[in-house]
Amino acid sequence: MGDYFERIVDLEVTAADAGALAERTVDWMVSRGWLSREMSGDTMYSLQVDEGYVPGPDWAQIAQEWGVDWMPGPVAVIVGRDAHYPGQGAIEPSAVDCPRCEATTVIIDYPQRWEADKAVWQPFSAAIDAWKETGAGSATCLSCTVTSPITEWNWADCFALGSLAFDFWGWPPLTDEFITELGARLGHRIEHHTGKF
Ligand SMILES: [Zn+2]
Repeated sequence: MGDYFERIVDLEVTAADAGALAERTVDWMVSRGWLSREMSGDTMYSLQVDEGYVPGPDWAQIAQEWGVDWMPGPVAVIVGRDAHYPGQGAIEPSAVDCPRCEATTVIIDYPQRWEADKAVWQPFSAAIDAWKETGAGSATCLSCTVTSPITEWNWADCFALGSLAFDFWGWPPLTDEFITELGARLGHRIEHHTGKF
């Protein structure tokens, strides 16, 4: 068990479709024996939900071998538009690339700075808040001056905006095969990161 997580975010599913897709995905993982239907809130700290699915009898098929005594924690399924931060403490992404011209906007100028430039981050942060509330938000590129939906920007550090996420709490690293298969099941682009409570 542990207080860290590995998270997979669906970057494309709409909020309206996320609930049904979550159910289908859980059904699939239960049918393979990777998850059970039992819910628990032990050793998990997702902000959005209190309980997750307890690992099934065959959970070890989708994770690296960490010894026979290892028992991973629950898998939280998070439905709804949200900003998903890797690491610890919801630190802003260090940069973002414009989806049109690919110019990079630096948000945290490591290693000179260790905090987001507030003036740079503010329009992105406001667009994320608008998207979370209404499903639409956009930001304007300072290089090409084109305004694009906030969900189309390419974030550094595996920061992700999405309406469906799976938090694997205290699991050994998930196998590449499983992550590829999960992405194919979801049928959308995914982001993948790790973090700590
Ligand atoms: Zn641009």
